[in-house]
Amino acid sequence: MTDQNPEKTFCYRHPDRETLLTCNRCGNPICTECAVLTPTGYRCKDCVRGQQKIFDTAQTTDYVIAVLVAGGIGALAAVLLRLVPFIGFFLILIGPVVGNLIARAVQWSVKRRRSKLLHQVATGAAVIGSLLPQLPLLLLLIPGLNSNLSSLGGSLLSLVWQGLYIFLLASSLYYRLRGIQIR
Ligand SMILES: [Zn+2]
Ligand SMILES: [Zn+2]
Repeated sequence: MTDQNPEKTFCYRHPDRETLLTCNRCGNPICTECAVLTPTGYRCKDCVRGQQKIFDTAQTTDYVIAVLVAGGIGALAAVLLRLVPFIGFFLILIGPVVGNLIARAVQWSVKRRRSKLLHQVATGAAVIGSLLPQLPLLLLLIPGLNSNLSSLGGSLLSLVWQGLYIFLLASSLYYRLRGIQIR
């Protein structure tokens, strides 16, 4: 107990509130109201806000780029895969590969800027892009448009593989994009 200089500290935003807490990043004294508990300890609101800005670097144009890149590659891959006969089950293996490919392309084209919304937009665009070339297949399933029942059965099975393909593509794309952010 060396109390020769009992310096009282006050919250940097509320000068009337005495406090013992300090922000563990900038060292500012903070009152309990101003303190934000983060995984690394108490921080002031300014530092927390600053951190979020560092993580969310995406610009408006990045959303457009992400939609074009993810949707474009998604559609292109879907068109190419439709040309492969009897691909069925293998779509499940190809889905994550295409997802990773799109993730790399998106990250590269937006210069690794990021935000949660950007990742969601890119994933959504990839799903829509992958679905578009499937529209003729979906039309086949509308009763009346298709009188050939044997081809209908094949289309249904194909639709199941396509569905799994798009699901795996989207989840691997999204988690790859998000994973980069955590690092
Ligand atoms: Zn701080
Ligand atoms: Zn305060």
